[in-house]
This record gives sequence, structure tokens and C-alpha cells, in this order.
Amino acid sequence: MLDLRLEYEYMKEDIDAAIQKCLEHQRWILGPEVAELEERMADYLGVKYCIGCSSGTDALVLSLRALAIKHKNQEYWDRDDLIITTPFTFTATGDAILRAGATPLFVDINLNTYNIDPERINEALKTPLAKRVVGILPVHLYGKCCEIGEIIDLANKHDLFIVEDVAQAFGGTWNGKKLGSIGSSGCFSFFPSKNLGGYGDGGMVSTNDDESAEIIKMLLMHGGKNKYDVKHIGYNSRLDTLQAAILLVKIKYLDEFNKKRVEIAKIYNESFQGLEDVAIPSIMLGSDEGLGHVFHQYTLRLIGFERDTFQKHLINEGIATMVYYGIPLHSMEIFQQLAVLEKNNTRLINTDIASDSVISLPIEPLQDISTTNMIVETICNFLE
Ligand SMILES: *Cc1c(COP(=O)(O)O)cnc(C)c1O
Repeated sequence: MLDLRLEYEYMKEDIDAAIQKCLEHQRWILGPEVAELEERMADYLGVKYCIGCSSGTDALVLSLRALAIKHKNQEYWDRDDLIITTPFTFTATGDAILRAGATPLFVDINLNTYNIDPERINEALKTPLAKRVVGILPVHLYGKCCEIGEIIDLANKHDLFIVEDVAQAFGGTWNGKKLGSIGSSGCFSFFPSKNLGGYGDGGMVSTNDDESAEIIKMLLMHGGKNKYDVKHIGYNSRLDTLQAAILLVKIKYLDEFNKKRVEIAKIYNESFQGLEDVAIPSIMLGSDEGLGHVFHQYTLRLIGFERDTFQKHLINEGIATMVYYGIPLHSMEIFQQLAVLEKNNTRLINTDIASDSVISLPIEPLQDISTTNMIVETICNFLE
């Protein structure tokens, strides 16, 4: 669905030069590019620390474990500790909670935003489970800021931490603040298809908290300031020098590319708003409501129309689409065993509806206008 060669061609000279520089200095582990990128990103996000790591998944695990060490003075959370999150996300969001020792408590999404519904969080915090809840892990899905203002109020009221999953929303904003600078920490992914993608796996944690930053730096290097004499159960989870070098080039284009994504999304929205069979995403761009959207995905919801039929028709016309996510976390075997779900699942109804009916269209920043127009015409001709 995404032709990453277009982006490489667009910045080829800079990328080649950055890689060449690494070949010359040969400092592959925590070379100078890693520190430079961390500084650059901390500056961009407006936070005190950015810490590179090996994936977005690890960024989540490191953040959650650092909070367990900080708050409980133990290596992992206890299984009785609940972290509220959305079941409509990539597997890693829920998996990271389990890997940090805690238990996900899934609450439903808002069907207009696909993000966790603060009203449902509020309801969950009125049940007897509330006294076990230690934190909230909201996701800015598809690049759209979640309703973080309401979530902050709830977190303050119940004394909970917030860890933001910003894997899909690098560059997104809320009330003029960059996403990932709002919670206790923000977790980013540089998976190649993300808004800021490397040429392999990579991730980053952002935080303003001195203690968390110090612990995370230890955890990702075997668990100690000195890897030959460690304090915690650590990982080998460093960000590669080579990835940092590539990302230092690509970050220069981030805002421009996010803008291009929004332009494509606007064309899609204007073209599809009259169609009865689809719900279009709401665009709010750092405006009154402050909910900035950077369109990692442009996702439609089909209403009363078979998704398979729609997807097959587009494939026949040469248009690739994707479904994020066809199986919600609460339906996966591991979470059925280990997460806390409402027994009859009626309370996760919006997530089930979304899983059955969403479809994401191509939104490559460098896709030319004729491609966008072709996609629009194909869809309008089919659905009108
Ligand atoms: C991609 C993604 C992750 C995980 O990032 P990786 O770098 O692939 O480990 C976590 N959460 C969400 C919402 C994602 O989209």
C-alpha cells in the first residue's frame, strides 16, 4: 500500500551521505548519530529527554517497567495491577502491558474517532476494579490525537499515570503541544511504514521525568549504568546508529510529509462526504478543539456495505487497501486469558463494529494527485 522507494528517491543524496558517514566512522553501537537524534527529537517534541530504543514495542515495555520500578520499587507490575487501554490498536499496546507484569483493562472506543472513549474510562473507574487501576495507556490511533484533556482530568482525579502510545502520530499535536510530551512518557515507533520510519526497526521514549529517564537508559542497556554490573532485569534494546543516521535525515521532512498526508485526507474527505455507505474520518487540525491529526492512516468505515466486496473491487482496479485492525485485542487468545474484559463484551461494541467495517486507503505523502484522483473516482463510481 505504501511505496517507500518514492521517499528514498526524494531524499536519496542525503540518505546515501548519512550511511556513508557511518561506514567511515564504524561506531555502530550508540554512535554519535544516536545522541544527535535524541537531542533533535527532544527539541522537536519540547521534552527534557528522548531515549532511542530498538522498537516501538520496547518503548512501551521500557516506559511501563520504569514506572513499576519508580512507583513500586519492584522490577515488574503485579498481575493485579490494571492498566486501562483500548482494544482497538496494534497487538503491541496490550502485549507491552503484559510484558511489564500488569493486566490490560480494555474499555471501548468512540466510533467517531476510533480512540479510547474517556466516558468509558470514567465508567470503569466507578466499578470495584478502580482500586486496582494504576495507569492509562491511550493510543493516538491513525495519527489522530485521542481525547487527552479528559483523560488527564481522570488520571489526576484517580492518581494514575498516563503513557501515550504515539507510534502512529509523530508530529501530531494537542493544544499546541506535541503528542508524546503530555503523559509521563510517550512511546514512538520508527517501523518503516510509520510517519517517521527508519530502514528497519527502531523506537523512542520521550519524557520530562528525570527518574524515569535514568531507569529507561539502564533497562535498555542490560539493566545498569555499567553493563558488567547491573541493577535491574534489562534488555539489549538500543537504537542502531545506522537507523539514527537515517532518521536524522528523514525528520527534516516530517512536517512537510505530515502536511501532504493531511492534504490527501482533505481531498478524500471532500470527495466521499456525500456517500451514504461510508463514514469519513473527522479532521480537526490543532484548531479550537486542539485535536491535531497527522493521518498515519486514512480510514473509512463502511456502513451496510460488505468490506470484502469493496476491498476486492479496489484490488481489481489496482488499489491496495488494508484493514487496521480486523481482530480487536479482546478477541485474541492471549488477552482472552489474561486481560480484564466485560463478560458479555457488549461494552466493547464500538470496537467490534470498527473491526468489522474499517478500511484504510493509500496515503503515501508523495503519492501524486493523479493517483489520489484515480482512487477517489474508483470509489465514488463504485459506491454512488
Ligand atoms: C507500530 C505500533 C506499535 C509498535 O511499534 P514497533 O516499532 O513495530 O514495535 C505500537 N503501537 C501502535 C499503535 C503501533 O501502530
